Amino acid sequence: MEEGEILAVAVTSNEKLEKGEFCYCCNMCKQLLYESQRRSGILMTLIFFNQNGDIQELKLNDMISYPWPK
Ligand SMILES: [Zn+2]
Repeated sequence: MEEGEILAVAVTSNEKLEKGEFCYCCNMCKQLLYESQRRSGILMTLIFFNQNGDIQELKLNDMISYPWPK
């Protein structure tokens, strides 16, 4: 890994979310992260948290099925 390359990003929100619900990245964030992943060639992981203590881990490449806003 080189300096500045991203392996994983943790994402959370102060939004009131139900159990098992997460605030996913908007398309502008996804685009920025995709460009970074493309440059580095490292498959990026996104880890989502909510205030209920739930955690969901997804690959950036699978994020297309998780739109924001819903
Ligand atoms: Zn965004």
